Amino acid sequence: STFGVWFRQDLRLNDNRALFEAIEAAKKHEGNLVAFFHIHPELTESFTIRHDYFFQTLRDLAHRAESFGMPIHFIYGELSQALSTLNEQVPNLSSVYFNKDEVGFGAERDLEAVNWFEEEGIEVRSFQDRHIHGATEVKKDDGDHYKVFTPYFKKWQKLNKPPLYSIDHEHLKQYGRDYTEQFHEGQEHFQKMLAQCEKEWKHIGEDSASRRLGVFLNQKVDEYEEKRNLPAANATSMISPYLKNGVLSPRTIYHKIEEVREKKGDSKGLHTYLSEIAWRDYYNMIYYMYPEAKSKEIDSSKRQRDWIDDDERFLKWKNGETGFPIVDAAMRQLNSIGWMHNRLRMIVASFLSKDYLLDWRKGERYFQERLIDYDAASNIGGWQWASSTGTDAAPYFRVFNPTRQSERFDADGEFIRTYVKELKNVPKKYIHEPHKMSEEEQNKYGCVIGKDYPEPTVDHKTQRKKAIAMFESD
Ligand code: FAD
Repeated sequence: STFGVWFRQDLRLNDNRALFEAIEAAKKHEGNLVAFFHIHPELTESFTIRHDYFFQTLRDLAHRAESFGMPIHFIYGELSQALSTLNEQVPNLSSVYFNKDEVGFGAERDLEAVNWFEEEGIEVRSFQDRHIHGATEVKKDDGDHYKVFTPYFKKWQKLNKPPLYSIDHEHLKQYGRDYTEQFHEGQEHFQKMLAQCEKEWKHIGEDSASRRLGVFLNQKVDEYEEKRNLPAANATSMISPYLKNGVLSPRTIYHKIEEVREKKGDSKGLHTYLSEIAWRDYYNMIYYMYPEAKSKEIDSSKRQRDWIDDDERFLKWKNGETGFPIVDAAMRQLNSIGWMHNRLRMIVASFLSKDYLLDWRKGERYFQERLIDYDAASNIGGWQWASSTGTDAAPYFRVFNPTRQSERFDADGEFIRTYVKELKNVPKKYIHEPHKMSEEEQNKYGCVIGKDYPEPTVDHKTQRKKAIAMFESD
């Protein structure tokens, strides 16, 4: 019999639970493995920078899998049509193994797939692999779910952690089967996706991910506590794009953290880093509990807000032309590399919803388009936190002052100058509020306000009052 291994957001050959279990089944039943990936036609229509990153990561996986003797076959079309192709082309397909999605579009797709396979008499084995603890594992003693992170994390830490699912790559060669001839149409679609990519990404794939995690845990984690809020310090692990695409398993991260802890002892940095990894599980649980959270405020008392409809403002925010240097630098970082520092995500999300008074959903969707680490649960969680509409959200009267945030977290303006080139000669004294320069100073530093760089497009104090009034009328 043949065991199908369906890759989706788990683009790796190490510590991959579905792959591990499929190999075990092939060993036990002396069967074969056939690996596949499904390309949905919708992807061709809405191709953005994050698909660009995803497909190049997939190419890396496909090369690796092929070199180990287990090529990945591409199936194309609406789900049932693509699965039919799979079933027609692969002899004796008896079971399909995959790592499931617990939330969002992926969870809906999984349900449809399970129904399809069951109707065809094909067994499905699916596994929770995307998180250290899945959406239903961390519960209060009375069985209810947590709504606040701190007690969630306390419980999270107490639970037994899953082991690593180590994979002997020799087995891929031994059990993997090559049907690439039959799947040339899918392969052509894959090549078409790659041809749409605009940017060539260098640091992708499992080796890069493992190197980056190693460097972070060996050299940087001690400073994490102190510097993780400083965008210019390059002090976070930047592993989110790998986690998003499943190039790195969260279990592997957990066990590596434990290794370092055993070797060097515990530290604040390690503890905080572990808590960040747990935030990812927490928001997955929240999205699972509130499946409508992408379109609706989790807190139902906050659904009546009169957000302003202003396309011009939204465009300024997207392009990084708000006149607030830290916001503009952050948005330009996003537009340029498809990633943004966490502190900046909080600042720009607060700015959109509380200074511009624009609907947080617009921001959430723009992040979806641009972030190479876009993760619906974490993104929705972050946006609902910033706009004070989620379970464990910032109180509505807590409105980030973008200038104070800038002074605190980019004191010398180093980050701002990296992304807002117009301000590169502006001295520290004015870098957070360049409009305060005199005409003479503007000429001296090569940045004329209103011409080279905008005036602040809103007055923060006024907007803060408006936001609080709007939120109080809920
Ligand atoms: P590190 O500080 O090195 O943390 C390590 C890992 O912990 C991260 O890779 C991530 O997986 C996890 N993590 C850290 N902080 C959070 C958090 N607040 N919530 C959930 N997980 C966290 N993260 C995403 O992965 N995808 C998103 O789409 C996303 N959207 C966000 C939107 C907003 C408005 C906000 C405020 C935060 C968002 N985050 C998102 C969380 C966080 O900003 C990123 O995970 C982090 O910046 C990634 O960089 P890093 O890997 O260097 O993080």
